[in-house]
Amino acid sequence: MKKILVIEDEVNIFELIKFNLEAQGFEVYGVHDGLQALPKILELQPSLIILDLMLPGKDGISICREIRENAAVSYVPIVMLTAKSEEFDKVLGLEIGADDYITKPFSIKELSARVKAVLRRTDLLLSKDEENIKVGDLVIEPKAFEVFKNGQKIALTLKEYELLVFMAKHRGQVLTRDQLLDQIWGFDYYGETRTVDVHIRYLRKKIEDDSDKHYIETVRGVGYRFVEN
Ligand code: CA
Repeated sequence: MKKILVIEDEVNIFELIKFNLEAQGFEVYGVHDGLQALPKILELQPSLIILDLMLPGKDGISICREIRENAAVSYVPIVMLTAKSEEFDKVLGLEIGADDYITKPFSIKELSARVKAVLRRTDLLLSKDEENIKVGDLVIEPKAFEVFKNGQKIALTLKEYELLVFMAKHRGQVLTRDQLLDQIWGFDYYGETRTVDVHIRYLRKKIEDDSDKHYIETVRGVGYRFVEN
């Protein structure tokens, strides 16, 4: 059974989500204070996290960043819960590493559809059962969503991971921003090409050295190309 961790301080909303997701066969756990979030995530290793933006102790954005920086859990998909009044920026949400987001008040039907869509995507990635990909000093192990640089595991988000795998498989080819957006984020985010640039920047920071050895080349006005040095 898949474990879902709901990080939400409003008890009514938590109970509603729990009741509905349990009815659909998920194991649902809750944390109601931001400070307890990361320890619980590390202990539980959930398949998905539903994360509220406004929490006591520590806010959702900080928690999201902590998850994304921790190699043990960085790939766990996150669905952010936001309130309309918080004017949450969709692009910001994607930048900090949320896989999807939903605005309160939401219908429980919509939430469970989003949850299932994100999990389907993760399952699809896992079930491909592929060989390791070796590029330069990088080794990608698709069965475990793990990436190693010089034998050292690096903390990638699911999106950064997908981006890296897709680019590494199409190395040498020029990939446009729209192509990458469509491939990694899907048509929902059509036109949000800034999202691609931000993720490329994060990915570069994680896989490239300060040396002149680069994996990702910018093709001015077009997109990016992955090259093996
Ligand atoms: Ca809240």
